[in-house]
Amino acid sequence: MTTGKINVSVENIFPLIKKFLYSDHEIFLRELVSNGTDATLKLKHLISIGEAKVEYGNPIIEIKVDKEAKKIHIIDQGLGMTADEVEKYINQVAFSGAEEFLDKYKDSAKDSGIIGHFGLGFYSAFMVAEKVEIITKSYKDEPAAHWTCDGSPEFTLEPADKTSRGTEIILHIAEDSLEFLEDAKISGLLNKYNKFMPVPIKFGTRTETLPKPEDAPEDYVNETVETDNIINNPNPAWTKQPSELSEEDYKIFYRELYPMQFEEPLFNIHLNVDYPFNLTGILYFPKLGSDMQIQKDKIQLYQNQVYVTDNVEGIVPEFLTMLKGVIDSPDIPLNVSRSGLQADGAVKKISNYITRKVADKLKALFNENRTDFEQKWNDIKIVLEYGMLSEDKFYEKAGAFVLYPTVDDTYFTLEELKEKIKENQTDKDGKVVVLYAGNKDAQHSYIQTAKEKGYEVLLLDSPIISHLIQKIEGDNRDLTFVRVDSDHIDNLIKKDENTISKLSDEEKETLKASLEAYIPKAYSVQLEAMDSGAVPFIITQPEFMRRMKEMSQSGGGGMFGMGNMPEMYNLVVNTNSDLATNILNTEDKSTQENLVKQALDLAKLSQNLLKGEELTAFVKRSFDLIK
Ligand code: ADP
Repeated sequence: MTTGKINVSVENIFPLIKKFLYSDHEIFLRELVSNGTDATLKLKHLISIGEAKVEYGNPIIEIKVDKEAKKIHIIDQGLGMTADEVEKYINQVAFSGAEEFLDKYKDSAKDSGIIGHFGLGFYSAFMVAEKVEIITKSYKDEPAAHWTCDGSPEFTLEPADKTSRGTEIILHIAEDSLEFLEDAKISGLLNKYNKFMPVPIKFGTRTETLPKPEDAPEDYVNETVETDNIINNPNPAWTKQPSELSEEDYKIFYRELYPMQFEEPLFNIHLNVDYPFNLTGILYFPKLGSDMQIQKDKIQLYQNQVYVTDNVEGIVPEFLTMLKGVIDSPDIPLNVSRSGLQADGAVKKISNYITRKVADKLKALFNENRTDFEQKWNDIKIVLEYGMLSEDKFYEKAGAFVLYPTVDDTYFTLEELKEKIKENQTDKDGKVVVLYAGNKDAQHSYIQTAKEKGYEVLLLDSPIISHLIQKIEGDNRDLTFVRVDSDHIDNLIKKDENTISKLSDEEKETLKASLEAYIPKAYSVQLEAMDSGAVPFIITQPEFMRRMKEMSQSGGGGMFGMGNMPEMYNLVVNTNSDLATNILNTEDKSTQENLVKQALDLAKLSQNLLKGEELTAFVKRSFDLIK
């Protein structure tokens, strides 16, 4: 038997490991199963190049929990180690790696934490074990070795009688980690970290019912057998070529990823690059609606089929973190902090690649089946609109597939829309006026008026739409977006014929004074000579003010120093309407007051502004009028 002192400069490395990585003790299992997987795949490789002359067979990795003896066994059938190799790889490589890791970790611990705690490797066993044993038999013709270490730098190494190829790690679980002896805990961890690892992983057995034979008698009782309980799928969809997969396969994989998710994804994007970096994965567009907050199942990051994290911030552009799916890339550095990630060139390239790939896919979907794309629009628009706002590279491509639906569900691209309305909808400065509504019900009467005049009205109802409109206008100087209720339609859009005013200037003065006498100060009265058929009283909220207010409410808070802007409204009165003439000609002051108040309330009603006491007064006044 050999005993020795592991050569580490940190006198006792184990308490340090425990201390630094306190919250992530559970990753020990991922690390040890990864080592078993590596050992198995290395053997496969050695056999394939003729270096190892042994049978590969059907190797698995087995996890056993011995609750009574407080032990966990991780057993692989990989290449194993000779005693010399244990000396070298465990005592030297593993422990020098440990030191290096701790050094790095100490620096970034101040930061937002290390991404995946990878590279921690074998010694992570000491986060949960007070003693660790390795019993290993190399594929080479050499005796097995038995290594023991109790967490101090002292170890023992002696021959063992193991005859089958591979390595068994035995963890003697420490008193403060007994939770890991629960089957449910272990199967939960295996399911989280090892669900898609490339070598089958066995945890316990399960009872399988054999099918009933054809000639079975009536009272036949089905036979059962105990089979290995394999917890993983070693060949997940993302490791295959898109050409090998059907639409159904992608859906099946989605359910594998998110077993609790019952809604089907809208479509998927298969990522697959090997130069200048390695990345595979499948992203899914879930049904999103307009709520940006819901995000239950996130994109999962893997490295060579080993789960790392579901926090892909910094790796995937922010707007795409609303998607679901997996990304697998060995090129994402994991022993760095989040802020370190952002500075990493490879990560930046990966993020750009994903953006481009998503844009290309959207364009293809749009071109292949526009009707289908239109039907999905409302469920995906929030991601796309957010992407246009936050990623210039995406914005540049978005023109080809981003849609602008009308209130009647006709979908235009911006170019198509411009073409359609450029003759009929221009303002006094010659800009093309894009009319839109934010809410079909609330702005119903305004939409109606615009439609009667033959104008197209869009329905733009995302929470971030004001920001996007602002950006689009910045890039399209010939366009101006105005909400249908931001001014009277005839003031928004230039008309050829000029309506002649029925009232003289003097009469207008008198009318204005009468109106202002009864109308609250928050409204500025604006007289306009319009068609006599146009709505007589209409409340509008200037586009610019409203938009700025919305923008300061939805993010970029206070950006414009307008956090608390007051509500400002215009009351537009059509001087050619019969009502205006009526108000002007009514001698009796109280009748005149009633007329003005009633008209104002009606205008407020169609802007959804009539509430509380005012509404009660309105209802009462209206009843009085018809009794
Ligand atoms: P890493 O796996 O990152 O190299 P580890 O500390 O996990 O670092 O392991 C150190 C070395 O010990 C490995 O590189 C490998 O050579 C050897 N090793 C660990 N576990 C096994 C195993 N189950 N079978 C064979 N070799 C192993």
